[in-house]
Amino acid sequence: MKNTFNDAMPDQQGYFGEYGGSFIPEELQQVMDEIATAYDECRQEPGFITELARLYKHFVGRPSPIFHAQNLSQKYGADIYLKREDLNHTGAHKINHCLGEALLAKKLGKKKLIAETGAGQHGVALATAAALVGLECDIYMGAVDIAKEHPNVVRMHILGAKVISVNEGRQTLKEAVDAAFTAYLQDPHTQLYAIGSVVGPHPFPMMVRDFQSIIGNEARVQIQEMTGDLPDNLVACVGGGSNAMGLFSAFLDDKDVALYGVEPAGRSIEQPGEHAATLSLGEPGVMHGFKSYMLKDDAGEPQEVYSVASGLDYPSVGPQHAYLKDIGRANYVAIDDNEAIEAFFKLSRLEGIIPAIESSHALAYALKLAKQKPGSSILINLSGRGDKDIDFVVAQYGAQYGIEGQ
Ligand SMILES: *Cc1c(COP(=O)(O)O)cnc(C)c1O
Repeated sequence: MKNTFNDAMPDQQGYFGEYGGSFIPEELQQVMDEIATAYDECRQEPGFITELARLYKHFVGRPSPIFHAQNLSQKYGADIYLKREDLNHTGAHKINHCLGEALLAKKLGKKKLIAETGAGQHGVALATAAALVGLECDIYMGAVDIAKEHPNVVRMHILGAKVISVNEGRQTLKEAVDAAFTAYLQDPHTQLYAIGSVVGPHPFPMMVRDFQSIIGNEARVQIQEMTGDLPDNLVACVGGGSNAMGLFSAFLDDKDVALYGVEPAGRSIEQPGEHAATLSLGEPGVMHGFKSYMLKDDAGEPQEVYSVASGLDYPSVGPQHAYLKDIGRANYVAIDDNEAIEAFFKLSRLEGIIPAIESSHALAYALKLAKQKPGSSILINLSGRGDKDIDFVVAQYGAQYGIEGQ
């Protein structure tokens, strides 16, 4: 299930080089240790592995296909492939780790799953997993995101989850994490905090990566079957970094495969508060229980961040990405709101696929890369579908793209 590089990372304390680890109160440390031990047992247990594989196949619809986007390829002069995580049940890659976390919570005898959500994708995926395995579910969500991502809020209610509105600060992802963390601290024994990305204290960056590595493991086989070769480039968007880590993990030893993580440049990469380009502009620091790159304000606190993609506006990033950046194995670049929206319409109109705004960041960068590396092959992780974004996109950008009277 895992390659050699991954087995070596992280170390026992959860470090990827100098990043990762666990910076949390003693009481919570005991709970994290318990989770780490249970996870270690699970990943070696045939019953757990078989059950997860069964759910991936028959519940999620895996393996997700790889699609050769011929119209885009022809137009941009490179061979462009899409890993179709948008076709998963619930519409994105997050279901991959939510099912893993839900099965783990069940094994630990927990009663309730709690989590934060940005775009609502993690909330929906977790509420889905909770319904399936029979657990309660509380989802913390910024009030701004609740207004923007209405269909996902309704889905969570229908699935039986409780959605708790967070009204502090910018009322988006970072504040939702703070609120969920506080709730977890009040009762870490009957609840499991199912973190939504490859972030948080050890073992979450490792565990979420492992659950998401199904993306890369499938893709590595599929692309070789299709083309007889490995891709020259991998491109994935990076919020916390789970879909990117899931794809990259199977290719880390393939030195000829270039890796690109795409962060949101938002409204302006020059202005603090107007982007969330953590790896591009941040510095090492500790927040939410782990060490990684982070965007800091003048007081050294987490900076306010922004992106048109609710799933990408987080002021830190998965510690393994910080490590991959420092050793030069992966490249981290940024795409702004307008470029992402342009790519959103390009994929919709050239290939008949409406992508999530998050995934559109990866797509936008891939199209730039195609021009820089003509004739090369590019595999993009299409992390999710855009159904959740259509009302917002048409209201904000419809006129620019010839959609009138909305
Ligand atoms: C949540 C989300 C992301 C960002 O999360 P990562 O952990 O960086 O993968 C990207 N795409 C979609 C569709 C999402 O829902």
